[in-house]
Amino acid sequence: MMNPKNTIVCFRNDLRLEDNPAFLFAAGRGGGVVPVFIWAPEEEGAWAPGAASRWWLARSLESLRSDLNKKGLRLIVRKGGTVKQLARLVREADADCVVWNRRYEPAARKREREIERHFRAKRISVLSFNASFLYAPGQIKTKTGKPFQVFTPFWNACLTQEVSAGFGKVPSRIQIPLKWPQGISPDRSGLYPPCADWAAKFERYWEPGAGGALKQLKRFLRKGLSDYQKGRDIPSDPGTSRLSPHLHFGEISPKRVWREVFRHAARAKKSGMSKTAEVYLRQLVWREFAGHLLYHFPETPERPLREKFSRFIWREDGKSLKAWQKGRTGYPIVDAGMRELWETGWMHNRVRMIAGSFLVKDLLISWTEGARWFWDTLVDADLANNTLGWQWVAGCGADAAPYFRIFNPVLQGERFDPFGKYIRRWVPELSKLPDAWIHKPWQAPAEVLEAAGVEPGKTYPRPIADHAVARQRALAVFSRI
Ligand SMILES: Cc1cc2nc3c(=O)[nH]c(=O)nc-3n(C[C@H](O)[C@H](O)[C@H](O)COP(=O)(O)OP(=O)(O)OC[C@H]3O[C@@H](n4cnc5c(N)ncnc54)[C@H](O)[C@@H]3O)c2cc1C
Repeated sequence: MMNPKNTIVCFRNDLRLEDNPAFLFAAGRGGGVVPVFIWAPEEEGAWAPGAASRWWLARSLESLRSDLNKKGLRLIVRKGGTVKQLARLVREADADCVVWNRRYEPAARKREREIERHFRAKRISVLSFNASFLYAPGQIKTKTGKPFQVFTPFWNACLTQEVSAGFGKVPSRIQIPLKWPQGISPDRSGLYPPCADWAAKFERYWEPGAGGALKQLKRFLRKGLSDYQKGRDIPSDPGTSRLSPHLHFGEISPKRVWREVFRHAARAKKSGMSKTAEVYLRQLVWREFAGHLLYHFPETPERPLREKFSRFIWREDGKSLKAWQKGRTGYPIVDAGMRELWETGWMHNRVRMIAGSFLVKDLLISWTEGARWFWDTLVDADLANNTLGWQWVAGCGADAAPYFRIFNPVLQGERFDPFGKYIRRWVPELSKLPDAWIHKPWQAPAEVLEAAGVEPGKTYPRPIADHAVARQRALAVFSRI
């Protein structure tokens, strides 16, 4: 048999070395390993990475580059046409094999089919792997072979299948190619977000890259997991894992998270840990469910899964949309969430649901407007999870909230932030209000407002919609479909 030549590893949303099947395959194949990343946002159709994602991606690539350098490898960054760039790289690196980990978004799947066709015709080996999910999308089906559209049976079906072991450790020695192809530096790639000042503050909150992901997981196992069942609903506490951007960019594999949570829970079983671990693992499987739905229903980022919702006529109201985006609706819990998003690139799940419900049900503005804003501003923007989340809120997706479930932003605030800690952090102009009024400042007596330095309409907006009236309006229009 001939000795293998070099292997191109095309990194995508799998920016890690450990537990990375494509990279480990290349490292074990013999021949040199040529790691590449191709920046081609124009190939993503309507869903090119948003500004916050680009900030994360640029940092994560730097971290990957540094991890590769420690193994004596480089990261070759190229820009534009994936097939064209890969074809060039194969020639320049004298490669006979191209490998990658699959992405499952519709545009990415189309591109992968093109890559396969191109190289098969040229007799270059191509191989792809699932590195993003516990179960490859398409794997879990109903008994009749159909896709699940309800979460609990999907979860039960997942539990009947073993989560396979990880893909192993990175070998200590990896063969280096004799000649490296040229790459471009990330600042010449046009990858960095245009609004650098806004994104720069994310540095305070996040450490993109595989090292940051592992630290975050360890922190969560030590401090968050045992109380996750309760803590996950309290937006002022660091009660959730905050692994979503790391998982989205594949800096840590879901299999590793699954295994470590399992192991940790088994050790701490006496303290009732298994229940709370199960609650966490269910969230990981919601991520699987989202990937599964996007795989089977690729049109859903633009269209409701439940067809009859296509007839819904949303309101066009640029002024209210802007107030929502900027955290100036006059509802403190909604505004706190939207400001947390703007400041950190992330928002707590409970508040995503409240803020989403307010946009869609109180303002009757389309869920697609919300999804677009999140897409641009979330560091964890993920087409599958974002689509599932927004269609859940709007009631038009799989296993979605029923139309009559309309979150009351005051009651939600009082229930999940009873002492106003979250509000005081993100809406500081209300920080001196007593707990009793902090979720409904417009109802506070004049002397309380004065003592707290709050002037409704001046220092903090009056509500842009009356929730009770908006609720009745939403019930009336939603019940028609
Ligand atoms: C309107 C709306 C939009 C959303 N958009 C996104 C998005 O673009 N990207 C994204 O990753 N999540 C999205 N979510 C889901 C959820 O809010 C986040 O995954 C979660 O807040 C991330 O924080 P965490 O890592 O601390 O979660 P944890 O509670 O620690 O959960 C662990 C992991 O499970 C997954 N997960 C948790 N909840 C969900 C869920 N409801 N659906 C799918 N996966 C879940 C995430 O990967 C998360 O990192 C959205 C939810 C809503 C309601």
